[in-house]
Amino acid sequence: MDLQEKIRNIPDFPQPGIQFKDITTLLKDGKAFRLAIDRLAEPYKQQPIDIVIGPEARGFAVGAPVAYVLGAGFVPVRKPGKLPAEIVSYEYSLEYGKGSLEIHKDAIVPGSRVLIVDDLLATGGTTLATIKMVEQLGGTIVGLAFLVELSFLNGRQVLTGYDIGSLIQY
Ligand code: IMP
Repeated sequence: MDLQEKIRNIPDFPQPGIQFKDITTLLKDGKAFRLAIDRLAEPYKQQPIDIVIGPEARGFAVGAPVAYVLGAGFVPVRKPGKLPAEIVSYEYSLEYGKGSLEIHKDAIVPGSRVLIVDDLLATGGTTLATIKMVEQLGGTIVGLAFLVELSFLNGRQVLTGYDIGSLIQY
């Protein structure tokens, strides 16, 4: 099955000039969704993963099922003000804008082996912010796994040194 065919392109969303890759068309297709999750998890089946992290909100949809397949825990990274307990936060830049992300301080214990999973790698800002928070808490990044990679935005350059995989590239 060609997973790329399941992604819908939306021109000028959320602002003019952006070619938005809509993954909801892949998620609603049961066979495509299962195949995507299996392929994302596959490279990490032979190594211990304690925690899968998914950034809000589409990272929840792909990260949680990967955690389930690997028998790992799932930890959400969220936009400001959503997490109820003590947090650490990190400011980051997006393909279109700026923001900050938060994680529960006790979600990562020192030495935790962490896999970050998100729907899409664009500039790498979201992932780098997530990495910084995990490393600040003493976790080890085992890998970074994405459904879609916008290669022309060179996200890999800001993530050099980490093991990066993506299923669909533009
Ligand atoms: P980055 O931080 O620039 O790498 O942007 C990645 C984040 O922005 C991911 O969490 C994506 O969910 C979101 N994102 C950026 N561009 C798109 C897109 O074209 N489709 C879906 N999500 C996107």
